[in-house]
Amino acid sequence: MILLDGKELAGKIKLEIAKEVAAMIDNGERVPHLAAVLVGEDPASQTYVASKEKNSKEVGITSSIYRYPESISERELLEVVDFLNLDNEIDGFIVQLPLPKHIDEQKIIERINPIKDIDGFHPVNLGRMMLGLPSLLPATPLGIMTLLERYQVETAGKHCVVLGRSHIVGTPVSILLSRKASPGNCTVTLCHSFTRDIPKITREADILIVAMGRQHFVTADMVKKGAVVVDVGMHRISDESKKSGFRLTGDVDFDKVAGKCSYITPVPGGVGPMTIVSLLQNTLKASKLTHPQTP
Ligand code: NAP
Repeated sequence: MILLDGKELAGKIKLEIAKEVAAMIDNGERVPHLAAVLVGEDPASQTYVASKEKNSKEVGITSSIYRYPESISERELLEVVDFLNLDNEIDGFIVQLPLPKHIDEQKIIERINPIKDIDGFHPVNLGRMMLGLPSLLPATPLGIMTLLERYQVETAGKHCVVLGRSHIVGTPVSILLSRKASPGNCTVTLCHSFTRDIPKITREADILIVAMGRQHFVTADMVKKGAVVVDVGMHRISDESKKSGFRLTGDVDFDKVAGKCSYITPVPGGVGPMTIVSLLQNTLKASKLTHPQTP
């Protein structure tokens, strides 16, 4: 079994990004700038945004956080998005989800200028992705594709089963893996809460991508010998032995499943770090779209 070590790979890609940013500075170009909009005090959102800021700084990308109270109105948040769309200093930005219930998330996402949409959630980016056109890809699916590509996992002709059909993970990754591209060219089965007999389907998977948000849903009896398993799930379990008071685990029962796999991602240290690094890659891409160099 080979561990798809997202932490190690993300470290390598960060060095590549840092070199690219340094070269941009040497050429007299401006430093890419990522912004994050954080609404409210949700601890997980605060952790994600802090990590995005830390990782940006490590590669030389400028980063800013725009913090607003839970009480911000939808109209005010739309104005923040308008401001960031127009601000020439900002190359790309994310609005950290989830938003408070009184704000329509889709409305906010659709207001973001697609070329600054480094989360890749705007319908223009998702539509272009579907058509195989250049676009900013959603960060977690991009991270999964990069992991498969860099570990040279063969995908062409394989049966890939995706558990979960969210707009941010399951659906886009199912489209990317079925595209006529490399990695891609898979035959994809997308499962959700209406799917009958999921274990029967997962046992036929050469590649199994799990993004359900159900702790340890995938057990050893659900996995074919030699399968590639990518676990997107992320759950905090309280653990007194940890300084933070919790540890992370995934949607796959790693200890029981790993022995049957050809490749598997750990949680933590698998898809999570790849998601962050994809956001940095998207920021670089957005900086080239928002500030194209004249030849
Ligand atoms: P989500 O929006 O809650 O979607 C979950 C999907 O799983 C839905 O399509 C749902 O089906 C399906 N599902 C849930 N329970 C099921 C069951 N018992 N049987 C069959 N299908 C079931 O979740 P998400 O945002 O995609 O996130 C999934 C997990 O990934 C979470 O643990 C999240 O924390 C984690 N995540 C991690 C990263 C990372 O960077 N590592 C990034 C994003 C998300 P229906 O559509 O029918 O409801």
